[in-house]
Amino acid sequence: MIPEKIIPDIFKGLPVNAFFTTRTFNADPDTLKGQLQAEAIYLPVQKHTANIIVLDYELEPRIADSVVTNREGLAIGVQVADCVPILMYDMKKQVAGAVHAGWRGTAEGIVRKTIAVFRDRFGSSPEDIVMAVGPAVRGSCYQVGDEVVDAVSKATGKGDYAQSRGDKHYIDLPSANRLQAMADGVLPGNIWMSEECTHCLPDKYYSYRYSKGAAGRQYAFLSIDRSLL
Ligand SMILES: [Zn+2]
Repeated sequence: MIPEKIIPDIFKGLPVNAFFTTRTFNADPDTLKGQLQAEAIYLPVQKHTANIIVLDYELEPRIADSVVTNREGLAIGVQVADCVPILMYDMKKQVAGAVHAGWRGTAEGIVRKTIAVFRDRFGSSPEDIVMAVGPAVRGSCYQVGDEVVDAVSKATGKGDYAQSRGDKHYIDLPSANRLQAMADGVLPGNIWMSEECTHCLPDKYYSYRYSKGAAGRQYAFLSIDRSLL
């Protein structure tokens, strides 16, 4: 039995509802609002940008690949099918973030830019941020061209996220995003990593690479819910 959702234990005891979905997830909007204890759900119009939206009460669809809010009862989310879904929460300032990091977003440092928004707009300290990096295509399942390795390396620095075998290059975007967050002061112990690869588990996750294009999407959702305190 494939579970409908993956609940990262890093958020345990915090006033948030947060999860990553699998292929078997099939909630209608009302059920989903109930699960998230949210009166509204916001998904940005994703275009592999480095745009970040800060949401309060203006919920018009906008092009962005990262959403930040401190509004309770508003669930924020992203959709992916191989790219990296990331959920973030500042335990002190009670600020939530949802990020879609493909290779372009990773190369643009979208996680670092999101952390900067937490800091500049909400006064966050990185050591108060907990983060969950969801299921994505990983390592040897993600062969890329030199230009991708170059772009991601420029944004990330040295690390074992990039491997080459002969003239073939592979990159592990979840690890690159983890390193970027750590470079900005997020503590390693505050980062939860899914160990799963969407491409290796086609029965469990949608994978763009596995299905050669036509894939559904899985979601990452997070809502602030102070009734959990
Ligand atoms: Zn794999």
